[in-house]
Amino acid sequence: MTTPLTTTRRTPADLPEHIQHYIGGSFVDSVDGDTFDVLDPVTNQTYLRAAAGKKADIDLAVAAARKAFTEGPWPRMLPRERSRVLHRIADIVESRDERLAELESFDSGLPITQALGQARRAAENFRFFADLIVAQTDDAFKVPGRQLNYVNRKPIGVAGLITPWNTPFMLESWKLGPALATGNTVVLKPAEFTPLSASLWAGIFEEAGLPEGVFNLVNGLGEDAGDALVKHPDVPLISFTGESSTGQLIFANAAPFLKGLSMELGGKSPAIVFADADLDAAIDATIFGVFSLNGERCTAGSRILVQRDVYDAFVERYAAQADRVKVGLPDDPATEVGALVHPEHYAKVMSYVELGKTEGRLVAGGGRPEEFPEGNFVRPTVFADVSPEARIFQEEIFGPVVAITPFDTDEEALALANNTKYGLAAYVWTNDLKRAHLFAQNVEAGMVWLNSNNVRDLRTPFGGVKASGLGHEGGYRSIDFYTDQQAVHITLGPAHNPTFGKAQAH
Ligand code: NAD
Repeated sequence: MTTPLTTTRRTPADLPEHIQHYIGGSFVDSVDGDTFDVLDPVTNQTYLRAAAGKKADIDLAVAAARKAFTEGPWPRMLPRERSRVLHRIADIVESRDERLAELESFDSGLPITQALGQARRAAENFRFFADLIVAQTDDAFKVPGRQLNYVNRKPIGVAGLITPWNTPFMLESWKLGPALATGNTVVLKPAEFTPLSASLWAGIFEEAGLPEGVFNLVNGLGEDAGDALVKHPDVPLISFTGESSTGQLIFANAAPFLKGLSMELGGKSPAIVFADADLDAAIDATIFGVFSLNGERCTAGSRILVQRDVYDAFVERYAAQADRVKVGLPDDPATEVGALVHPEHYAKVMSYVELGKTEGRLVAGGGRPEEFPEGNFVRPTVFADVSPEARIFQEEIFGPVVAITPFDTDEEALALANNTKYGLAAYVWTNDLKRAHLFAQNVEAGMVWLNSNNVRDLRTPFGGVKASGLGHEGGYRSIDFYTDQQAVHITLGPAHNPTFGKAQAH
């Protein structure tokens, strides 16, 4: 008999049982005192209660952020001064990376080693924007002696940041870094499945010297706190990461206010393996690409298209390797796939696993690992011979489940790759350089990796096309999103003023 996980689950030291909002520099409960339960993904037991924010809490947070924007020092500081604070934030995140990873892994079910990588990446995000804001120059355009034109780059105001539950801390840093670097104030509404790591930002920011009111946090459900943030008239910007359907709703709700919107949405990204590819590398990378971060990765290469000549060999080797991926407790350093975030999400992924058994040929996984009769554990699951009409080919599963489909020609591969509503990422495996670059030009994806996997320089844009998003985050694109670029023009030499109305004067 296996020992129940509820009795063996290791709990991090000093785990809070209650988390609050952070508004205007103070931790507070909801105005109506309401809370919601947060579950441990391994045991599915409630381990903490979080304040459940609604419109009244959002109103308070926006008012605090607005006051900090209109009256406080942050937007008026020199970029160099803000940069110093951001570097301090990065230092603090780095110095606490193991604690952050421990809490993130506990809350989200991510394997501890991967949560540690994500915590370090969050620090890098702050460092990157700390440097970028100092390096940022807007050109002045001159016609010597006659004309000068320049750009005033200004923070916009209160930015509303709405984030998902997969790698929450790191994804929050993507938005917090540039929003703060450019002098905005913010209200963050983190995902309700994983509010723990977001609650740590307040202490980090206080310690780094961020002025009061610049960062505000309201926990709560999307339809309450998220909705109120999107509809608040004093929030001119919404940066959202989450499901495409939520993005559509936010788009509609923000439309009457003509808000600035950045949307990082869902994906069903193809990995295309041509017969001339280095198969060993392609298999390793496509295994990692869909099973790392529990498969809860927006850029997961969850549709693998394989050229017919190598199809059978690929499927056989891929399935064998998928079977060897280690599913385990999130806090075990040997674990490669941990527990899915929440029982609701687990049920959704499992329903796709059952559907897949009718839509494709199951070659690996297909259910819960025997050693985990409870908790949100799924074996890495591989379906072969999946047709492009199948729902498991078309719909985002967001778990450790992959569909493999054969193709014959380059044209067919491209048509299959583009045959979904999504367009976030694509991965191409071939030794033919021309084919790889041509494919990149024609594939409908915001990001393409050629014979490589998910490495990304922070200067490059991150974002999708079609149902995968609107706009880009990363590098100068983030700076552009979070700033107004006001153009100022002056004539220096003889005026060439209009002479309208003068011709008829005498
Ligand atoms: P979700 O859309 O359910 O929720 C995301 C956030 O939106 C949460 O904070 C939620 O509370 C909030 N929300 C929900 N309804 C809202 C509403 N009506 N108004 C305002 N806010 C609302 O997404 P999720 O399940 O948390 O995250 C998984 C999804 O995120 C997947 O589709 C994944 O592909 C996507 N994602 C995309 C990227 C990217 O960069 N493209 C990165 C990570 C995750």
